Amino acid sequence: MTTKTYDHYGKVPPLPRVIGDKKKRPQIVAVVNEDNCTGCEACVPFCPVDCIEHVPADKYTDVAIPPVQIRFNECIGCQICVRVCEKLTWDAIAMHDPDDVEKQFGIKIVGTAYGWDNIPEDTWIDRKVEQHARK
Ligand code: SF4
Ligand code: SF4
Repeated sequence: MTTKTYDHYGKVPPLPRVIGDKKKRPQIVAVVNEDNCTGCEACVPFCPVDCIEHVPADKYTDVAIPPVQIRFNECIGCQICVRVCEKLTWDAIAMHDPDDVEKQFGIKIVGTAYGWDNIPEDTWIDRKVEQHARK
């Protein structure tokens, strides 16, 4: 008798094989509902431009694992994180109009920042790299 297993990743889209630079401002960007996000990081490795990170550690003092946030200037609006979170965890990410995001967060979303460029020092990523190097 053969056993049929459920494919948990079946509806998660595959990552693109070739990643290009972000050329223009996306029509939609991802926004995390921090009240719903468990900080599980399931979405992080699926982002093709690696722009999902934890919020600063001091933002929430009452949770063991802080939620994640999106670096809006690097998000290309692909929606992969939304589908990953919805299928695998808590449905904590939604896509929004960049104009609304700019108003809500008091920021300006541009279309040229990409990947590892323009990331200031002392980010969560830098700290992770340092932690890894110390091991
Ligand atoms: S998969 Fe969802 S719950 Fe997990 S860190 Fe990402 S946004 Fe948060
Ligand atoms: S929409 Fe795409 S690029 Fe933007 S944060 Fe989600 S996975 Fe990354």
